[in-house]
Formats: sequence, C-alpha cells, structure tokens
Amino acid sequence: MSTILLVEDELTLAETLRYNLEREGYTVLLAADGVQGLELARRDQPDLIVLDIMLPRLDGFSVCRILRQESDVPVIMLTARQDEVDRIVGLELGADDYIGKPFSLGEFLARVRAIMRRTERQPRGASREVLEAGALRVDTSSRRAWRESGELALPQKEFDLLACLIRNRGIALSRDLLLERVWGLDFIGDSRTVDVHIRWLREKIELDPARPRYIQTVRGVGYRFEAPEDLP
Ligand code: CA
Repeated sequence: MSTILLVEDELTLAETLRYNLEREGYTVLLAADGVQGLELARRDQPDLIVLDIMLPRLDGFSVCRILRQESDVPVIMLTARQDEVDRIVGLELGADDYIGKPFSLGEFLARVRAIMRRTERQPRGASREVLEAGALRVDTSSRRAWRESGELALPQKEFDLLACLIRNRGIALSRDLLLERVWGLDFIGDSRTVDVHIRWLREKIELDPARPRYIQTVRGVGYRFEAPEDLP
C-alpha cells in the first residue's frame, strides 16, 4: 500500500484529489500548509508528495528544497502560473514532475501512476533518523525504541508521540498540537487522548512514572520533553 502526501491549501481541490487517489487504492495524507506538509513528510515518509506552490506559512519551493536535503521522495509540483513553471525548471529543485493548474483528473492520476511505477521498480533509500535523549534511543526508520533495560514495545501512537516529543525537546507542546502531529487533522476526539497516551508512555519510559524525568507536564498547556543532558 503506497502513501501519498497532498500539500494543498485549496480544500475543495485537495478533497477531490484525495477521494480519487483513495479510489485507486492509495493511502492519502493531507496538509494545508507548507510547515505541516514538511512535518507529515518527515513523520510518515510517504511514497510520493504532491506539492502546491502557493501555500500558507512556507511555500512549495521552500518545502521542496528542504525535502531534497533530507530524502529522495518523488515530488510532483502543482503550479498555477507559467512563471512558476520557469522557476521549477530553472531552480533545479529536484521535483520529479509538475502539473499546471487547472488540470484534468485523468491527467493527474496518469502522472501519479507513472511516478509510482517508476519508483516501485527502484526502491529508494529511506533516510535514517535516530533520536537520543538520556537513556532513550528512538530509531524512526526501523521504528524501534530502547531504554536502559532494553527494547521498548511501543504501539504506533505511543511511538509517534515519543518521537515527536524528543524532536521538540525543551519546548512546551500543547495537547492540540500533539493531537495534530501524532493523530492527524482527521482525528475525531479530544485532547484527553493525549493525556492517556502520555500516561501509557510514562509507564514504559520513566523509572518512576509518578515522578517523570523525561515527560514533564506543563500546566494549562500540555507537555514538554526534557533530556537529562539538556538540563543545567
Ligand atoms: Ca495554493
């Protein structure tokens, strides 16, 4: 099952593309701005990214440039203007293809299929990310995690939550932000989900879950990960 990340702020277009890609059997992730697109690309390692250029917070050119430093995931850029096409070609951003808006659904799906066929034949090297804090070690490429006493058996959401916390060590993260990053925008539920998973995670990673040293509660906000080596 291949996963496609759609970074597109025009919701109607995004939903139409998503619907049709899902009908073709792809798993689809949606991001409505460049920053979120980058986050989902890093977290979920999609097989293909469809990237609009004019995006809130971080434009598609910047997203593509940053992505290229980190992975060789195929990228199709969506462009509304001829001068954008010139920039895509001229900047050598490393985009694999571009489609001018407006485009037909048939054309779009054909391009996606073509790229998927090409990449399925030559599996790309996944980028390796190992996060370390105190006695904790999290390898997001193999999705394995360890503490002093050995390997941790973490369910998917607890693993994603821990990786997200360590990546943002020292920063207070709100429950809403954690919900969005770990559970995604589609998640229907409330922030108590975060609290429950934090409790489970503490039971696994903390020596004394009642007096956590890694995951600190930030009253009225959410949680903050503290690595012992970062403390004064
Ligand atoms: Ca746009």
